[in-house]
Amino acid sequence: MSTAYEIIDHKYDVVVVGAGGAGLRATFGMANAGLKTACITKVFPTRSHTVAAQGGISAALGNMAEDHWEWHMYDTVKGADWLGDQDAIEYMCREAVPAVVELEHYGMPFSRTAEGKIYQRPFGGHMRNFGEAPVQRACAAADRTGHAMLHTLYQQSLKHEAEFYVEYIALDLIMGDDGTCEGVVAWNLDDGTIHVFRGHIVALATGGYGRSYFSCTSAHTCTGDGHGMIARAGLPLQDQEFVQFHPTGIFGSGCLITEGARGEGGYLTNSAGERFMERYAPTAKDLASRDVVSRSMTVEIREGRGVGENGDHINLHLEHLGADVLGERLPGITESAKIFSGVDATKEPIPVLPTVHYNMGGIPTNHMTEVLRPTADNPDAIAPGLMAIGECASASVHGANRLGTNSLLDLVVFGRAAAIRARELVKPGEPLRPFRNGCTDQALERLDRLRHAKGGRKTSEIRLDMQRTMQNNAAVFRTSEVLSEGVEKINGVWQQLADINVSDSSLIWNSDLVESLELENLMINASTTMHSAEARHESRGAHAHEDHPDRDDEEWMKHSLATIDDKGKVALDYRPVHAYTLTDDVDYIEPRARVY
Ligand SMILES: Cc1cc2nc3c(=O)[nH]c(=O)nc-3n(C[C@H](O)[C@H](O)[C@H](O)COP(=O)(O)OP(=O)(O)OC[C@H]3O[C@@H](n4cnc5c(N)ncnc54)[C@H](O)[C@@H]3O)c2cc1C
Repeated sequence: MSTAYEIIDHKYDVVVVGAGGAGLRATFGMANAGLKTACITKVFPTRSHTVAAQGGISAALGNMAEDHWEWHMYDTVKGADWLGDQDAIEYMCREAVPAVVELEHYGMPFSRTAEGKIYQRPFGGHMRNFGEAPVQRACAAADRTGHAMLHTLYQQSLKHEAEFYVEYIALDLIMGDDGTCEGVVAWNLDDGTIHVFRGHIVALATGGYGRSYFSCTSAHTCTGDGHGMIARAGLPLQDQEFVQFHPTGIFGSGCLITEGARGEGGYLTNSAGERFMERYAPTAKDLASRDVVSRSMTVEIREGRGVGENGDHINLHLEHLGADVLGERLPGITESAKIFSGVDATKEPIPVLPTVHYNMGGIPTNHMTEVLRPTADNPDAIAPGLMAIGECASASVHGANRLGTNSLLDLVVFGRAAAIRARELVKPGEPLRPFRNGCTDQALERLDRLRHAKGGRKTSEIRLDMQRTMQNNAAVFRTSEVLSEGVEKINGVWQQLADINVSDSSLIWNSDLVESLELENLMINASTTMHSAEARHESRGAHAHEDHPDRDDEEWMKHSLATIDDKGKVALDYRPVHAYTLTDDVDYIEPRARVY
């Protein structure tokens, strides 16, 4: 039974978990509103995955040519294949312009046009005048936009009185008897102490779960911990089946080559040297939406037109852009191409393959970032005391497929929204509710169980089985047969968790224990993804089902909600998509065929 842990107590008005773009924007916004704010993070803030974002952040600034937020909204709704909630999408696209101007004022070092304005490049699915032709909307700091943004946000955070708890792993939420979130339990990796952070609001900003797949562009820390905490609190995860494959991961390593490379004029070819995207997307060509390009590449490879000895990848050409453009606009990826594929991008094409990149689904929220606990009477009911922002959340602005550069935007717009909503909900210094007895039991029993787990399977072995299953059975193209096999296999991997072996029980820098905690979170994500995908009998956005090749709005224009119990049993339910806008300024965009 449970070791008696000595617990260090902290009281705050609000507690943010995660210090990527979303967590930092929320943290300093809340601190700035006079709220006593803690930010807990398992890695140093500027090592969060946001730092790796390359291509840009979208906003209809119109610096290069005419642009309007309504066009941006249209592109986002279409990109999302009508699974996005249009009230939230309106909010994000409208707030994009002030959000980017705000970043500039905070000191973010954007690339510049000759007149000194923020430089904007074309990106997939960003079009002028409701789908006519590509537009330059992605605001960029060369190909290191996330790096520039994260450092800017961290510097802003230091100006405010937020308190950071760095290299603390949040284990589980503390939920009151009435379902209100009251805090979070965390483990300090450095000295092995256990901490309870109490607050009126816990805002989860823990990022995606790319690492449930074998090949992904995400950092090793992207393990869906926030999703796991939500699931263990009995709350549902939304639209988990929608996993984005980025068209251009470097063949072999999966390291990302930004879509900005195609935005700057790069293009894809098959073994015949053909620019095949012209056949699949006559208007947008190489700048069609990511799901469309990834599928087209996969079809080319399957039909025997892949490049390389085994015909198993595609070429990305940048060499015609010249060393000057590459040096100025795409220095980072020129370097990555050299390191990860030994290719000099100024002279030869880069070998690429679609690679897992982003999770559209996650913790369901409304447009003010409050977490939903849907009931039969009210699909938009709220779980009090809980917020979710950034990649871990599903607002849902990305629906079935996210447009490139809309994630960095999502982080700052909804990070700020969380701060605005927290200020409305919490008075600084307002007393906290007394804790019920035993409220930390769930978190500590889990820690205890894993610390002393002496089964026959290493964490890394179980993780590899999970990653292979996801890579093979929940890929770019899916069939009923492959998905039902996937469900069986992932259920099988879940059984292995009972036989896990953790090498030692230390609480100081025990990386095996960290990875085991993360594996449990990854498995919650993997399993809900597979089950939700198996159940969705249509093709929409990133979910391409070969036995159900069409989008079915009649039956399937609804969000999946997956709950999972501690035996790994998944239960599915659904909630309607918001088929309305936030204000009367724009009309609801009716579903139509999605062509690029
Ligand atoms: C290579 C790459 C390039 C990209 N390029 C772009 C781009 O150009 N434009 C764009 O819009 N999007 C891009 N994206 C997507 C975008 O960068 C991410 O979706 C976004 O940065 C996620 O930010 P976040 O704040 O939600 O989470 P993250 O930046 O992943 O941060 C998560 C935070 O949560 C903390 N955390 C997690 N679990 C715990 C826990 N248990 N306890 C304590 N702390 C925890 C971590 O320490 C970290 O601070 C890219 C993604 C990748 C992988």
